[in-house]
Amino acid sequence: MRKIVLATQNRGKIAEFERLLAEFASDIEVLGLKDFPNLPDIEETGDSFKANALLKARGVCEFTNLPALADDSGLCIDYLNGDPGIFSARWSGVHGDDFANIQKVLQQLDGIAQGARSAHFVCEVALVFPPDHRSANLEVIESGKLDGVITLSPRGDAGFGYDPIFQPSGQNLTLGEFAHGEKDKISHRGIALRAIAPKIKDLL
Ligand code: IMP
Repeated sequence: MRKIVLATQNRGKIAEFERLLAEFASDIEVLGLKDFPNLPDIEETGDSFKANALLKARGVCEFTNLPALADDSGLCIDYLNGDPGIFSARWSGVHGDDFANIQKVLQQLDGIAQGARSAHFVCEVALVFPPDHRSANLEVIESGKLDGVITLSPRGDAGFGYDPIFQPSGQNLTLGEFAHGEKDKISHRGIALRAIAPKIKDLL
């Protein structure tokens, strides 16, 4: 079995990625950070999604000596000049407080008409190989983007993060109202992972 480590603690992300990868190759074992409890914290000090994804993938690859895949993602709002961007997870000041993050964004867009509330999600995925691998030291990056608008108020409780206030272009529902599995088909993360999956199959 070929192995890859996904730089996340999130069981949901691992399961999603396993499903996707299975469409391309059946002989790949996907490990998560829970399999490496002594891994030191990797700080996301980069100034872009790409830099942060690479930082995480390089750190995990170096520690585990296995090919590592990391993603970094966030929401960019045009009216806010691209914010919250790489600060999406901690926009309200508390890391991972989805409710507070949503409230802050809605406040910042208070009074802004629907037509001026355009935004997009970005996901960058980085794949890094260790020195003794047949793809030695190779680094591969793929990205995905999802365009949409920020709604006037939250709708739906599916998904995570800013899903309840993000309505993809051409849709009537927010991502928070999407049925289970439907988001993966159009999401920034789905696009980036589908782009990198065949490369993993070939290079691993
Ligand atoms: P990370 O890449 O998992 O660290 O995500 C960064 C932050 O961006 C998350 O905590 C969310 O606030 C936001 N975000 C990224 N992707 C999504 C998404 O698909 N839906 C909603 N929020 C997202």
